[in-house]
Amino acid sequence: MKAARLFKIKEDLQVVNVPEPVPGRGEVLINIMATGICTSDLHYRDGSSKIKALPITLGHEIAGLIQDVGDDATLFSVGERVGVYYLITCGKCHNCKMGRENYCQYAEMLGKTIDGGFAEYLVVPERNLFRLPRNVSLAQGALISDAIGTPFHALTRARIQMGETVMIVGIGGLGLHAVQLARVMGATTVIAVDINDEKLSTATIVGADFVVNAASESLLDNLSHITAGAGVDVVVDFTGNPTSLRQSLNALAFGGRLVSVGICPVDFVINPYHDLLLKERSIISSADQLHRDFEIIVRLIESGTINLDHSVSHKVPLSEINYGMQILEEKIGNPIRVVVSQE
Ligand SMILES: [Zn+2]
Ligand SMILES: [Zn+2]
Repeated sequence: MKAARLFKIKEDLQVVNVPEPVPGRGEVLINIMATGICTSDLHYRDGSSKIKALPITLGHEIAGLIQDVGDDATLFSVGERVGVYYLITCGKCHNCKMGRENYCQYAEMLGKTIDGGFAEYLVVPERNLFRLPRNVSLAQGALISDAIGTPFHALTRARIQMGETVMIVGIGGLGLHAVQLARVMGATTVIAVDINDEKLSTATIVGADFVVNAASESLLDNLSHITAGAGVDVVVDFTGNPTSLRQSLNALAFGGRLVSVGICPVDFVINPYHDLLLKERSIISSADQLHRDFEIIVRLIESGTINLDHSVSHKVPLSEINYGMQILEEKIGNPIRVVVSQE
């Protein structure tokens, strides 16, 4: 089968022939139909986020069709449309037992520590799969595992209360879904912040009440106006940019929570007294997702509660994966999600 593999840091992926995997006990073989290109893939390629060993097949946002099932794999039938949770966890360690399998001590991550989804086929344990709702395409379904799952988990960590104001910073593949999910979780006012007007108009289409272009307008003046000086209750930051994190912290109301999801490569200095204690604010981090998150997300999509019509902005075939990564890196055509599609 063909797989797009990273052989050397800072170099293009190479599409090469590798042996087709065979499902073992409790595993299934998936014919991969769609794999989203995530900003993390750019980080893995560039070495800014470390991967265990080279070469590796990247890609962790995966959807496809069941092609074959191994012994004792009984939950899915050949031909079913499925999405894949990219963390292969042990289910036995302390963190798994405590319901924090995103911190499983023995986890492997598809497309990071083991071969992932920029390929024609993949073998995974059947417990890592969830059925895709009928009302989404395979390209949209691929996004569930990260571009929808990660903001979902981050927003649950924010513990939004009904009536609160939530600000989403960074309207890319994750942020666009966070706008919708914040509303579902009880936010009365949702504010989208980016530096690109086209992405902000998409945020309006999917339900943002207010949008602010942080490059051309004063964010704090706008927020002061929108919240009548009270500040925002929750900020979810997908940029990891220290300037943006500082503005977000300053924008928080009494009791406000800043959820940090973006990868921040440099130190971000805070004063625990002035920034946090004086207003009883919190900074919360959030990473990956849990099995339970997908059970809920699938229902939200199935019921039409969240809309994925604007989620896939570009599709490329596997042979053009490097161009797909370039679209994301250079923001060609304002990408939301670029998907490697074999549909
Ligand atoms: Zn990702
Ligand atoms: Zn574990």
